[in-house]
Amino acid sequence: MTTFRWGDPADAVTLPSSVRDLLTAALGVTGPRPAAEPVLDPPAPLPDFPGLDVTAETRLRHAGGMSTEDLLTGRSGTVPDAPDGVARPATHDEVLDVLRIAAEHRIAVVPHGGRTSVVGGLRAVRNGYAGVVALDLSGLDRLVSLDRTSRTATFEAGVPAPRAEELLNAEGFTLGHFPQSFEFATIGGFAATRSSGQASAGFGRFDQMVVGLRAATGAGTIDLGRAPQSAAGPDLRQLLLGSEGAFGVVTEVTVRIRPLRELHYTGWSFPSFEAGMRAVRALAQDGPLPAVLRLSDEAETMINAATGSSSDAGGGCLAIVGCFDGTDPSDRLREFGGEPLGEAPGKAWEAGRFRAPYLRDALLDAGALAETLETATFWDRLPQTYAAVRDALVTTLGDGGTPPIVMCHISHVYETGASLYYTVVAAQSEDPVAQWRAAKTAAGDAISASGATITHHHGVGRDHRAWYATEIGPVGVSVLHAVKQAMDPHNVLNPGILLP
Ligand SMILES: Cc1cc2nc3c(=O)[nH]c(=O)nc-3n(C[C@H](O)[C@H](O)[C@H](O)COP(=O)(O)OP(=O)(O)OC[C@H]3O[C@@H](n4cnc5c(N)ncnc54)[C@H](O)[C@@H]3O)c2cc1C
Repeated sequence: MTTFRWGDPADAVTLPSSVRDLLTAALGVTGPRPAAEPVLDPPAPLPDFPGLDVTAETRLRHAGGMSTEDLLTGRSGTVPDAPDGVARPATHDEVLDVLRIAAEHRIAVVPHGGRTSVVGGLRAVRNGYAGVVALDLSGLDRLVSLDRTSRTATFEAGVPAPRAEELLNAEGFTLGHFPQSFEFATIGGFAATRSSGQASAGFGRFDQMVVGLRAATGAGTIDLGRAPQSAAGPDLRQLLLGSEGAFGVVTEVTVRIRPLRELHYTGWSFPSFEAGMRAVRALAQDGPLPAVLRLSDEAETMINAATGSSSDAGGGCLAIVGCFDGTDPSDRLREFGGEPLGEAPGKAWEAGRFRAPYLRDALLDAGALAETLETATFWDRLPQTYAAVRDALVTTLGDGGTPPIVMCHISHVYETGASLYYTVVAAQSEDPVAQWRAAKTAAGDAISASGATITHHHGVGRDHRAWYATEIGPVGVSVLHAVKQAMDPHNVLNPGILLP
């Protein structure tokens, strides 16, 4: 990945004139925001970590993740959170060495997978440390084993998702984990953030796929998961799943795998978001359950059709349904007011499903503010939560000027509830980072007030800690600190991330 933008520059998106016109006419976007040359602080001296690289180019590449705040900050020329160097161990034992050396010299260690964090999970607090080292896991890049009989595969943590899929596909298997960050995110990153892929209804969330894992901690190695299920006390794997590098460094992950099967996508139109919600709830609760099930609200359906990203749903709301052979929810979707739109919308969604981050770069370049956030709640609260978060975003970003575009879709469904995924586009103010922080605070408060979770799949990072503390309460917070003390006794792992 290049610095402060997504992917290979050769794949960059050029905004079509229809989108540029829409930005000016609908949002008052005034013009391009050229990126400044980033300036790095001189690095603090670091001890001899395995595979250490202190070049400015490498430090810059490890300066934060892929939230819009990270991108805007980097493009403004200020890089406050660049590490002093990057260690690139090649084995589990070398990861242990990094942690030992860091403890001896009081250096903060930030584990790096694919660097796609959108919650500030890679911007460690520097205060109180002699320096910050990024622990780049790309050297741990092997498929360790594949057990065809048990249908499990063990990967080292730094294996990028496309490589894992390629290795499994060659053996007739798939992991079935396709988040929008698929191109760059890693197996270890998925475990560390409890990621959720677009086909989660069919394959489960990543934390449900994990059978076992190995981690290097400040107190030594921990190996977890020796049976398909177990009643041997609390499930300690859950302490590392979602721990975002604050407790230990995941070095190996054993996942369940499934035989490779094709998915067939179709589009459906519903007269309203509420009508579509009833339909997707019916499938989630009573089946037949597709592997991919997404429902856009009116705004998202309209904007995607207007910008050519997807088909028109005749003024209603577009649902994308992806099924394996043998699953056909058509009758139920019709029963709930759905109109079939055929394969074209499904094909268009499948073809464009990893393009959004490239589009965000083009929007930021053009002077628009573009970002996403997500939550999840129970079905009975979904309509109220949907409206409360949307209203908070519209009110804050529209304050005293042109209203923003706020779009939403249901991205993941469960028997008991679903996630809501918002995308906003507005004109950038003079200080777009402060502008987004204000909107994000209002949305986070609305999520919290409506009883929903602050994050369904992006994680806590730096950005969600305050709401997370409210969510788990003081006893929960003290449990987290006790685990931190046990696994990271020298307090060097990802300071400022996750723990309130
Ligand atoms: C455009 C875009 C789309 C996205 N779409 C989705 C989506 O559809 N679903 C979804 O779930 N998420 C999504 N995300 C969020 C992000 O991709 C996930 O959080 C992903 O799981 C992070 O993996 P990574 O390898 O990039 O980890 P990183 O971003 O490198 O790290 C994430 C956090 O985990 C820690 N960490 C990383 N590797 C390890 C390790 N081996 N051991 C311990 N700690 C570690 C890091 O310190 C950091 O705090 C998206 C992000 C972007 C930018």
